[in-house]
Amino acid sequence: MSVNILTINCGSSSLKFSLVTLDPGAIRLDQGRLIVRGVLDRIGGKSNISFISTLHGNHTEESVITDHGEAINSVFEWLYNKRLLGRDGLQAVGHRVVHGGDIFRRAVRIDDTVIGEIESLRSLAPLHNEPALRAIKTAREILGTALPQVAVFDTSFHNRLPDVAATYAIPAELAEKYRIKRYGFHGIAHQYMAERYAELNDLLVSRKRLITLQLGNGCSATAVKQGYSVDTSMGLTPLEGLVMGTRSGDVDPTLPGLLSRKEGVDTTEVENWLNTRSGLLGVSGWTHDMRELLEAQARGDKRAGLAVEMFCYRVRKYIGSYLAVLGGSDAIIFGGGIGENSPVIRENICHGMEWCGLILDSRLNQSAIGSETLISAGSSLIKVYVLPVNEEAIIARETARLLGWLDNMKK
Ligand code: ADP
Repeated sequence: MSVNILTINCGSSSLKFSLVTLDPGAIRLDQGRLIVRGVLDRIGGKSNISFISTLHGNHTEESVITDHGEAINSVFEWLYNKRLLGRDGLQAVGHRVVHGGDIFRRAVRIDDTVIGEIESLRSLAPLHNEPALRAIKTAREILGTALPQVAVFDTSFHNRLPDVAATYAIPAELAEKYRIKRYGFHGIAHQYMAERYAELNDLLVSRKRLITLQLGNGCSATAVKQGYSVDTSMGLTPLEGLVMGTRSGDVDPTLPGLLSRKEGVDTTEVENWLNTRSGLLGVSGWTHDMRELLEAQARGDKRAGLAVEMFCYRVRKYIGSYLAVLGGSDAIIFGGGIGENSPVIRENICHGMEWCGLILDSRLNQSAIGSETLISAGSSLIKVYVLPVNEEAIIARETARLLGWLDNMKK
């Protein structure tokens, strides 16, 4: 039996959705049939709404959308108006939820208890789950509680991190009391890259050692072994690790205390600066957008040039450490807006890594813009891929799997 699954992917100020049909036998990530997808961005102000439908063409409009609940209302209004959700039109909804903490190790069917548990993670992640919670509650108001809704967590793919990678070297009693550990994020994206790589090469992901790089506004690197994340660059929160659009990534832990004393603000405010005023934006002084930075670098803007170099240098450092963690790697995979679209950044990151057998094919690299492409040279010991990340495919598949539909579909 075919099933229609609506996926909802809330970012801090955006909502992406897709309506996908999974047909019998559709177990590969590229086999979902897309009916409609859309994006609402700049939620909280004048939002750009764009819907792309295979049946009804494209539709864009500007409208004030105050929060993610209102965004979900707009999505359903449009889906109902276009008669895309008639009788038998929808079998399940899959929601991406950022933080599953130590409660949710895999996807789960949403009920009142689950909502309460996601809310209980607020102390760990005050902001991260709020948009998804609003979307979940509104979707349940609209659809009722009989239609299955599933939460798919960004932390789940990292839930087998070994203790040596997951533990901070702080007093153990404090870590335990406040559930402080390295949770890791972007798990849906890293899982997609690892599994899609395996699909494309017709092999079992469990047999390969991979380094997956999600490079967008948020950025993270993950070492994948036996099909699971064994180390990842984001930690307790998505602030740790790589240099990002507006996030600092790794800094000396004394920095918040120092800046709070010097600037006369509390440490929460400094954390806010590290999240929203730092990274590429902080170093360049004017933009978090990699395209703009590359153009400015080409014009000779020194601060833009430094921001770009630091970005690539930090990624290369993490690749080096994950080569050590994994004892070598079969493939490195680039995803995310920057990883998928910027040959020059990929070239910069991989530059000088011939020592470990990593050699890019410059022509293939140049041609890979937003498309699935092998970009390493034939002689490279480590394969390098560009794999545009389709988080919706993982959300739909995990939803179907949890509801027991995947096994039936194999027939
Ligand atoms: P998010 O993490 O918010 O989903 P994206 O994955 O969309 O972000 O990535 C946004 C980043 O990708 C921006 O820095 C943008 O400049 C960058 N980007 C998109 N296209 C290109 C390109 N052709 N060259 C360089 N950077 C690009």
